[in-house]
Amino acid sequence: MSDDTQNSSVAMRAVRILTAGKIGAAPSVIEALKFSLRADGLSWIDIANPDQDFASLVRAGSQADIALVGLEIDADALERIKRWVWLASELGVPHLVVTVESSDLPPKGRPGFDALTSRLTSFVKDRCDFQSVIIVPINAATAGNVVDRDANNGWYRGPTLRQHIVGCATTCREAQLQSHLAEPVQSDHIQARLFWLHDEALLPWRPFELRTEQGQRNATITSIKYELDPHAVERIARNRLLYGDIGVCNINMTEPFKCVSFKQDRQAGLFTLTDPKTHDVVALGLIDYSLRRASNIRWQETTITPAERAEAKQQNASVLWFTGLSGAGKSTIADLVEKRLNAVGRHTMLLDGDNVRHGLNKDLGFTDVDRVENIRRISEVSKLMCDAGLIVLVSFISPFRAERQLARETVKPHDFFEIYVATPLEVAEQRDVKGLYAKARAGEIKNFTGIDSPYEPPSNPQMTVDTTNETADQAAESIVTDLLKL
Ligand code: ADP
Repeated sequence: MSDDTQNSSVAMRAVRILTAGKIGAAPSVIEALKFSLRADGLSWIDIANPDQDFASLVRAGSQADIALVGLEIDADALERIKRWVWLASELGVPHLVVTVESSDLPPKGRPGFDALTSRLTSFVKDRCDFQSVIIVPINAATAGNVVDRDANNGWYRGPTLRQHIVGCATTCREAQLQSHLAEPVQSDHIQARLFWLHDEALLPWRPFELRTEQGQRNATITSIKYELDPHAVERIARNRLLYGDIGVCNINMTEPFKCVSFKQDRQAGLFTLTDPKTHDVVALGLIDYSLRRASNIRWQETTITPAERAEAKQQNASVLWFTGLSGAGKSTIADLVEKRLNAVGRHTMLLDGDNVRHGLNKDLGFTDVDRVENIRRISEVSKLMCDAGLIVLVSFISPFRAERQLARETVKPHDFFEIYVATPLEVAEQRDVKGLYAKARAGEIKNFTGIDSPYEPPSNPQMTVDTTNETADQAAESIVTDLLKL
């Protein structure tokens, strides 16, 4: 015997099993099975159990070979496991194995078993995508049909649990070998299914870091196409995902990466999304497919560069992003800053929240999702104007830190100045220039920042203006002085 042969006979192949429910009342049933699988060169790895939280289940399930569920026979048995079975299928687990204790089967065994089989089969056919599904009646007392055939259930002609697991392990091994043949596509835009694992809701356009086994990219969810649900016949349209939700999303990356679908390769097609600030994992994702080859859309370089356009105007192009509560003084101060800059020959443009909502963003409301889209469009417009060589003054409440971060990254951090108009809520509300706080307090306006929608103050703004200590003129003067020094 050559050394190679000797090694391969010793090397164990792992079969990764995701279990739920009790597989036989006695633990010895599973122990006997594990022992006999070792003789087949297979080591059983338990990767999750039903007590684990959703996040651990999702992680484990994405790499499992077999979903093994022990079913007790009662009226709700199937109902109880449906979501778990469906989740295993969504996580790409190829094989589903269900065991039923034969001592629990109704009198004469077989009719009860057949009825259960047909109900499970029709659920799986409609809702799941397994390569193989099998139900095995087992006898916990004698370990019948686990390793050896059960003499008491002569009507069952399918494989024993052991035979079936060995068969599944072989097809998984073949699929793994095939997966290396998958052709990666260089892509910066993908469709993926996301398992949302964070307490905060996912809103489109929030920036994240996307990690695959190849490395890391900055990414944003450009749209949530629909939510997946085991009970819904139709796909449910969604504009946010909450903890435990599963959604099909489009994701855009700042740089292309070699993209392989999860179906082709369960390692390479897997990714996590992390929060760029806290580094918390917020979602696990499975790549469905690439939406566009990065090579099909190229950045067209122009002869005249943004820097040359700014130079022609003899100024440093930049974006001054005023943020603060409604009535804080953003528009008043931004207007005075623009007047002063014009007086010294600077070329400017002022984008005011209310004005933009009359045109470009008139299709958007004030839900969290619409606010994010509002800021995204403003950021892109500010970037274009900054590239045109202008000093752009942006006056928007822009209540969320993540969106202001998105704006900073869109514009280029170097050209972006966050100016916090730090007026306390009591003062802004007292001013109530537009009468909006009164309406919000009366419940006539919903999602009003500071009242029933949060405002997240900047953690590190370039400039802060305190309008309770300074007049609008003084604030504008100090901003212009700081800006012209740059
Ligand atoms: P925002 O654009 O933040 O919603 P506005 O500029 O429209 O706020 O309104 C702010 C109101 O507060 C204006 O009526 C302005 O005259 C008044 N105000 C009083 N003191 C100041 C100050 N120091 N800075 C800016 N605005 C002030």
